[in-house]
Amino acid sequence: MQEVIPYGRQDISQADIDQVIEVLKSDYLTQGPMVPRFEKMVSEKCGADFAVAANSATSALHLACLALTVNAGDIVWTSPITFVASANCALYCGAKIDFVDINPRTYNLDANKLALKLAAAEKTGTLPKVVIPVHLAGKPCDMRAIYSLSQKYGFKIIEDASHAIGGRYVDQPIGNCQFSDITIFSFHPVKIITTGEGGMALTNNSELFARMQLYRSHGITREPSELILKSEGAWYYEQQELGFNYRLTDIQAALGISQLSRLKKLIEMRHEVAAAYYDLLHSLPLVLPQTDPEDYSAFHLFIIRLKLAEISISRLEVFNRLRKKNIMVNVHYIPVYRQPYYQKFNFDKADFPEAESYYSSAITIPMYPGLTADQIEFVAKELSDALQG
Ligand SMILES: *Cc1c(COP(=O)(O)O)cnc(C)c1O
Repeated sequence: MQEVIPYGRQDISQADIDQVIEVLKSDYLTQGPMVPRFEKMVSEKCGADFAVAANSATSALHLACLALTVNAGDIVWTSPITFVASANCALYCGAKIDFVDINPRTYNLDANKLALKLAAAEKTGTLPKVVIPVHLAGKPCDMRAIYSLSQKYGFKIIEDASHAIGGRYVDQPIGNCQFSDITIFSFHPVKIITTGEGGMALTNNSELFARMQLYRSHGITREPSELILKSEGAWYYEQQELGFNYRLTDIQAALGISQLSRLKKLIEMRHEVAAAYYDLLHSLPLVLPQTDPEDYSAFHLFIIRLKLAEISISRLEVFNRLRKKNIMVNVHYIPVYRQPYYQKFNFDKADFPEAESYYSSAITIPMYPGLTADQIEFVAKELSDALQG
């Protein structure tokens, strides 16, 4: 029986385990010193002023929308080729969601289509309050173009960088929020670094920071300077908004701190896997991920597209043949508007031809730091065989 090769997996070191055990032996399992330490380390590494850790990127996306006062009556736009959480955060706030078709080269929200859609929306009074570009697979979006459109049309930007911590855009770290209001990271085990479950929101805006902190913990504050009423004693706290419990634990933060110290190395290892794939796959009837000189992808995923016109086998057949060999290929993602829950919004697939074409031909092949040269060669050989039909 051939060993199972997943499409992604975590990399846990002995140091990671030791740091988590330290916290288990300490006074605080949650709300101790580790979460602020983790926040400080991530914000410093990424060049943002503030960071708010949360129990998932989904929660962090919700916090970001709450901080930006997304409400019923507001409109949020994102890419259709993303995990559902990038769109659901708008629905949690009662807002409307819409999608901007992807760029056929990068598979990210297309800045030119965004410009056209904004011009049309301006005429009908349906401009978005927030746009959420997603750095798919770790490949940065065209943030300069999106930012300049935000200046023209007055929308806010949340970067869903769930795939992209450690990546760079125009030689700056993803997360510095140079071209956005808030950037979100995910620390789910398949992502670049992990805390088990976890996420973070980064910003350079102190008000957004304060609001995200407030909403993370029930809308409650104890800060004397922030109180609305008069303090009644040292026990006193105030609930000022309807918040949530979206806190990360110190156990998780300790794992995150330890993982973060290996971030550069983990991404270099992903680049080595990518280099091996480019080498082994370049002559097959495939479109391999595009790279650009001013980007440094985090390579969360390695997404290939089948050149369907050049082969006599379907995507489903290629996928099934690889799965049969215990190569746990996947598809990222089903366009969000195709989900049953989204049917009630009456999206028309014909409005998203690039997302549809992408979805019909994409396969995610295994990509993670511990993937061995033998495993990479095995994947390449099985893929090559499968493409021959
Ligand atoms: C994983 C992911 C999320 C959600 O992350 P969680 O930490 O699992 O909540 C959101 N957006 C994208 C693009 C993701 O890949």
